[in-house]
Amino acid sequence: MPDTLIEAQAIGRTYRQGMTSVDAVAAATFRLQSGDRVALVGRSGSGKSTLLHLMAGLEMPTSGTIAWPALGSAETLLPEKIALVFQAPSLLDPLTVGENVALPLLLGKRPGDIDRAVRDALATFGLADLARKLPEELSGGQMQRVAMARAIAGRPRVVLADEPTGQLDQPTGRALLDALLAHLAGTNAALVVATHDALVAARMETVWQMARGHLTEGAKTAEGT
Ligand code: ADP
Ligand code: MG
Repeated sequence: MPDTLIEAQAIGRTYRQGMTSVDAVAAATFRLQSGDRVALVGRSGSGKSTLLHLMAGLEMPTSGTIAWPALGSAETLLPEKIALVFQAPSLLDPLTVGENVALPLLLGKRPGDIDRAVRDALATFGLADLARKLPEELSGGQMQRVAMARAIAGRPRVVLADEPTGQLDQPTGRALLDALLAHLAGTNAALVVATHDALVAARMETVWQMARGHLTEGAKTAEGT
């Protein structure tokens, strides 16, 4: 039986913008279970990033309920149990690549060999030679891979990736996704990837469609049938 990692009932997130308000996410109901592979697709502004932030417990819904039955309460999720790879570059400039990847492991006080976990995570994304570089010495695509390595280094139960291939050319994006899927194949972690890229979406078992804050769950891709 898969574990229920995230369960949301009619969650919404409304942002006030002066006199008006925006329903970034409206009444979204879904369940994420261990082993799930989900593509979250939709136009820019449809609410994908907001939904990922709600799933990570980074933001709380303004309506509805969300729970993490197999994981615990919202404030215990990041970065160990749920890893969130942000849409914008999020490496810390003064730290080397290796230190950036080690950071969540140090914050999480994870027992075990942190150096080894960092080496393995970097190797997964073909970054072994870059451990001592600073973020300013990297290309945009390399930074994106480092952020991904940092996300998986602590072996989270859920990986939420916000347009991870958005700034990459297609072969590079495909290689990143291949490496991520190969890594996760040996685990029962769940993966949700927000993406504009039909090729990325086609690699996932399930597609969740967002439109103006509304989520339609459950369409199966060829891969999942
Ligand atoms: P996507 O990731 O699909 O592009 P977002 O979740 O970023 O969509 O945004 C959904 C909607 O919510 C947009 O209309 C956006 O302008 C609005 N929004 C997102 N974050 C904020 C915020 N912090 N404050 C106000 N409005 C926001
Ligand atoms: Mg977004």
